[in-house]
Amino acid sequence: MSEREIQRIKCPKCGAEHDFEIWPRVNTDLDPILKDKVKSGELFRTVCPSCGQPIDVVYPCLYHEMENRIMIYYAPGEKAMQDALAAFDEGLGATEKERGLDAAKKGYRNRVVGSLYDLQEKIAIFEAGLDDRIVEICKVMIGSELQESRPDAVFDDLLFYQDKGGEGRLALMREGNAFASISLPGDIYKEVGERFKALIDRYGDAKVIDMQWVLTSVNRAGNE
Ligand SMILES: [Zn+2]
Repeated sequence: MSEREIQRIKCPKCGAEHDFEIWPRVNTDLDPILKDKVKSGELFRTVCPSCGQPIDVVYPCLYHEMENRIMIYYAPGEKAMQDALAAFDEGLGATEKERGLDAAKKGYRNRVVGSLYDLQEKIAIFEAGLDDRIVEICKVMIGSELQESRPDAVFDDLLFYQDKGGEGRLALMREGNAFASISLPGDIYKEVGERFKALIDRYGDAKVIDMQWVLTSVNRAGNE
């Protein structure tokens, strides 16, 4: 079930207040329109009715695609992140019947992300039918190649998306804005998936799958 609340928003520019609907729980099977609003960012953005100032509204949101067995906790901030990880440890993501069983074995993909960009990226990766763990490894590899071949292209993140033709691409991000993109070829994805299969089998049940997960897992594998 989706869950909504009304939050009073104060404009940082003019100080006027207005009510905004926030969604701490989103169930895309019951409320398909919410999926589009997460993807567009509309669920986390409002405009001051007095002065027109765009305002980002940051709040934790549990995003659930029942049919696709995907549960992503958008947990902005350290405290929200700890709460989200604890909730999964206590059996969130598994149904009542499955509780006590390993949710991963039932095919549920449980993730915790710290930013709206990361939430939107996870949705795009799963929608493309890809494994986010393989995509993250590709990002680390392609990212370090880019840093060598194009030292002028300073980026702080790479974000996966599908272009209009359905091809996977990585957007080069700087301070939250995409300024260029590079292809993520299907054959590279496949090759990386095969090469790192053992690593993914061993460390891939983590809830936070990001570049840090890749680096930590590679390190651990190297030390064993
Ligand atoms: Zn205002």
